[in-house]
Order: sequence, then C-alpha cells, then structure tokens
Amino acid sequence: RLILGIESSCDETGVGIVRLGPDGAVELLADEVASSVEEHARFGGVVPEVASRAHLEAMVPTMRRAVEKAGVELRDVHSIAVTAGPGLAGALLVGVSAAKAYAAALDKPLYGVNHLAGHVAADTLQHGPLPKRCLALLVSGGHSQLLMVEGLAERITELGSTVDDAAGEAYDKVARLLDLPYPGGPPIDKLAKQGNGCAIAFPRGLTGPRDAKYDFSFSGLKTSVARWVERQERAGEEIPLADVAASFQEAVADVLTAKAIRACKDLGVDTLVISGGVAANSRLSGLAAERCAEAGIELRVPRPRLCTDNGAMIAALGAHLVAAGAQPSPMDLSTTPGLPVGTIQVL
Ligand code: ATP
Ligand code: MG
Ligand code: FE
Repeated sequence: RLILGIESSCDETGVGIVRLGPDGAVELLADEVASSVEEHARFGGVVPEVASRAHLEAMVPTMRRAVEKAGVELRDVHSIAVTAGPGLAGALLVGVSAAKAYAAALDKPLYGVNHLAGHVAADTLQHGPLPKRCLALLVSGGHSQLLMVEGLAERITELGSTVDDAAGEAYDKVARLLDLPYPGGPPIDKLAKQGNGCAIAFPRGLTGPRDAKYDFSFSGLKTSVARWVERQERAGEEIPLADVAASFQEAVADVLTAKAIRACKDLGVDTLVISGGVAANSRLSGLAAERCAEAGIELRVPRPRLCTDNGAMIAALGAHLVAAGAQPSPMDLSTTPGLPVGTIQVL
C-alpha cells in the first residue's frame, strides 16, 4: 500500500511517498522538499505570509517530482496523510487544502496528522519499527520536548518541554548574535568544530536539584552568550567565535542528553530516539552516542535529511496509522496550529 505524505507546517513544502508492506515495514520511495528558507533569511526568521505563498507555488511541482521519483501513479496511492498541526495557520492550510483536493479527486482516505509525531516517525524510515516503548527527544525550531512513545499510532505522552525558547530557536538567536546566517544550526555546528567546547562555561538551564527534571530552558543560555560577547567587545577583546560556538553547543548538547538519559533510566526505557532539526547537530548526536553507550541505551538518530522538515516523515506516520487500523480523518478536517503532541491524529 502506497501512502502519500504532505508537509507544509513551516517553511518547507514536502511531499513523501512510502510503501507499507504486509508485515508493517515502511519503505521510503520518494522525499521531495522545496524550501523557502532563503526568502526568510534576511528577516532572521520565518515570515508567515511569505511561507504560505511559497507553499502555494511549490505544492504541485513538489508533488509531481515525488510521484516521478517514486515511479508510481497517483491513482495507485492507498491513502493521503497531511500535517494538520502544529505550525503556522496559513502554511498548514495550504497543505491541508491540497491533501483534501487530492483525496477527493482520487477518492482516497485522508489522515490529518501531528507534525511532531511525524518527526519521531521519520526515524522508522531509516532504522525500522520502534520498540513497544521508547523515549523520544524532539528538538526542532519551535519545540524541545521529551516524549514517552508507546506506539507511534497509539500513545505519545509529554514528559517535559522547554519553558522558554526551543533548542533550534536558541541556535538561531545565538547565530544572529555572532553575525552568522539564518538558520543558525548548520553554521554554528560547522564553526564549533574548530573551537573548544570547554573554553567558556555557559550555564546549563534547569539542572538544579529543585528544577523540573525533564523540562528545558535555553533563554538564559542565550542571554549569557550575549552578555559574554558584550563584555569582550567592551574590553576591546577579540571574540573567539569558534570557542563561543563550541561552548554554546556543548551547553545545549550536555543538557539535552543528560535529561534524556536520566528519563530513560528513571522510566526503565532502553531506546532513545532523537529527532527534529536540531538532531542534525553533530555534537548532540556525538555526545548522545557516548552517553547512551555508557548507560546501555540504544540510540537512534535519523540522518540529517530526515531530521529537518519533510513529507516522508508524514507519509511514514500515516503508514503507521493505516497499519494500526486507524479511522481516516473527516474530509472537513481543519488545521490546528497549536496541536499538542499527544494528539497523533486529528479526527
Ligand atoms: P517545529 O518542528 O518545532 O515546528 P521547524 O519545523 O521549523 O519547527 P525543523 O525544520 O525541524 O523545525 O528544524 C529547524 C531548526 O533546526 C532550526 O532552528 C535550525 O537552526 C536547526 N538546525 C538545523 N540543523 C542544525 C544543526 N546541524 N545543528 C543545530 N541545529 C540545527
Ligand atoms: Mg524549516
Ligand atoms: Fe519540524
């Protein structure tokens, strides 16, 4: 059974196609993405109107490319999954409207799914089905959450989340501070490779004995980087950019991995999945690998292409729902910009 996935929650128009095997295995056939990130770069963040318009222009060409790449016919598609939330209202609307049009024209069932659950589902395209229980660290541009996953189609519970900025947001803000391009994750990752992560002791948010065990905070870290840079400038000192990037990155990776591993131990879970755009970070996956190996936890991190927004992850989540026998969403499905992660499918 072929499942089509459509993604348009932020600034990536994604169309993915997967094949759901009789044994429940999900095989990736196509993953086409058109990004409007360059149009937002000069604003230092995503401009909602610009994103919606770009989705509108990119949707049909991206769909055509995906169908061609997969070597399939649209009429052979079994069902259509689309991101219903969370995300930007106008951006989501383009994807959901397109999905409804395809579903109606092809007379196929429609599944409105959760973007965040999709980020976790992306991993199954690379590493196969998830165990019955696992923990997911979801770190992206808009979210940073620790999740208990008991079946991708069944139950996702939030154990903790950021109380202020998301991890990706912190990367983007610190990059701006250091005059690096937007989005900030990739340039900081690259620059940090030439720096020393122990050079500057930036704070680790919410790691005190009385702090919430599984929540995160990155806004203090960002402010601390800003103050440090200001002090250097005032003293007429040069800014050791690579050391600042590496030390900031170390603080983020340290907190994220420490809390995720602690949750695994507390809850007796032996598999950790890291997903979302920030999972593409080399130090985060490197440190997680070291610490998981020490703790006897199996670590799963999808390749960078599957970490950032794409349609294949939405198709994968749709496939898991179809495999689990989930009912399709109604054809008057609406978008839910603030959809909580626990709502895997919008009915
Ligand atoms: P959400 O999924 O929460 O709605 P989003 O879809 O905008 O947000 P993603 O596309 O999953 O987020 O991720 C984008 C974020 O990932 C950006 O903040 C970007 O800076 C960050 N990012 C990408 N690559 C890296 C990297 N190598 N290191 C750190 N951060 C990265
Ligand atoms: Mg993006
Ligand atoms: Fe995302």
